Amino acid sequence: MNLNYTDEQKAFRDDVRAFLAEKLPAHLSDKVAQGKRLKKADYEEWHAILNARGWLGVNWPKEHGGTGWDAVQRHIFEEETTRAHAPRIVPFGLAMLGPVLMKFGNDAQKAHYLPRILNGDDWWCQGYSEPGAGSDLANVQTTAVRDGDSYIVNGQKTWTTLGQYADKIFCLVRTSKEGKPQQGISFLLVDMNTPGVEVRPIVLIDGEPEVNEVWFSDVRVPAENLVGEENKGWTYAKYLLTHERTNIAGVGFARAGLSALKRIAGEQTQGGQPLISNPFFAAKVAQVEIDLMAMATTNLRTIAAANAGQAPGAESSMLKIKGTVIRQQINALARQAVGPYAAPFVSEALEDGSNVEPVGPAYAMPASQAYFNNRKLSIYGGSNEVQRQIISKAILEL
Ligand SMILES: Cc1cc2nc3c(=O)[nH]c(=O)nc-3n(C[C@H](O)[C@H](O)[C@H](O)COP(=O)(O)OP(=O)(O)OC[C@H]3O[C@@H](n4cnc5c(N)ncnc54)[C@H](O)[C@@H]3O)c2cc1C
Repeated sequence: MNLNYTDEQKAFRDDVRAFLAEKLPAHLSDKVAQGKRLKKADYEEWHAILNARGWLGVNWPKEHGGTGWDAVQRHIFEEETTRAHAPRIVPFGLAMLGPVLMKFGNDAQKAHYLPRILNGDDWWCQGYSEPGAGSDLANVQTTAVRDGDSYIVNGQKTWTTLGQYADKIFCLVRTSKEGKPQQGISFLLVDMNTPGVEVRPIVLIDGEPEVNEVWFSDVRVPAENLVGEENKGWTYAKYLLTHERTNIAGVGFARAGLSALKRIAGEQTQGGQPLISNPFFAAKVAQVEIDLMAMATTNLRTIAAANAGQAPGAESSMLKIKGTVIRQQINALARQAVGPYAAPFVSEALEDGSNVEPVGPAYAMPASQAYFNNRKLSIYGGSNEVQRQIISKAILEL
């Protein structure tokens, strides 16, 4: 298996670099580099720039206005955009719902929703999880009862990322209590502006209301918003999750975190010397870098196999665990490196236009923020414990 880029792939990488040098606005890359919070307008601005170049639908086929890129091109794009501190592409419409509609939506749904996703007309959020349905997702209890040309939806979703910005939510709803739990689930598109939808913020440990509860009280949803067939939603939900788990390794994010860590450890001092010259601390940094290099190689092997037409199996679980653990270790070392300055964490200092004076060096607050915020990495996208169960069954045959 050849893990080096071909000349064609190198030329593509040069194209991406040239595009980023010309088009990525400095005010956005500065915000990302400084760990400042991005707002809806920031994401929309970056999406529009990518869309103008035809590079927003990175995992969409050309017939729907996507790039038609293969797995290696997507990997190169991801690597270069994270290296340049570009905002991430918000995944809910583009990486999750889009592929589901392309495969299971009807012609009217494809014609209506897909261009709106690319043009930024609709901001989607993901209504899968509920208080009793996270890892055990088939246990969803939010009901949708057919009433003429509509469904009446009642229940509660939770952990809805960036739901405060959303115009629309795609939901797993219970349309039947017969048979196995998986058999009574449907996939429904709901307009967030419908009467009876209420969004309540949940403030995370880093002080940001990044996630929400979404409550439904007798919400009337047109029956034409059902995707595919009633009670077949579990199939579509699982298909979506395979797309949610693309780029699960997060190599680019880990590399960006590692170079920030090295910069911090080069500037922070201990006993008058840079922290990075302390052999104990340097050994920890070296170990995490070795782990990252090994994980990046495994990731490339998986991508090369995907390009040769093989569907990734339990490798995704290995990459999810290693990728997220490495990022959390990098975050923990950065927080350790800033020492006492990690303690006076003032969440507001990371907001645009805040006049809160950061305590300590400018890199201290973002180091704490990343440490707190990235606790989520080992929980969402299928918790790491659940991934270990998959590995134990699929690889170790336990
Ligand atoms: C920041 C954040 C953003 C999120 N965004 C969204 C979103 O936009 N939309 C959405 O629908 N959901 C979202 N989620 C929800 C996420 O998918 C769930 O949190 C996740 O699936 C875990 O479910 P849970 O929180 O209910 O925990 P539980 O499933 O209750 O798990 C609790 C603990 O038990 C462990 N556990 C559970 N089952 C097993 C098992 N079989 N074997 C071993 N251990 C097990 C888990 O690993 C965990 O440690 C988000 C979560 C977070 C933290």
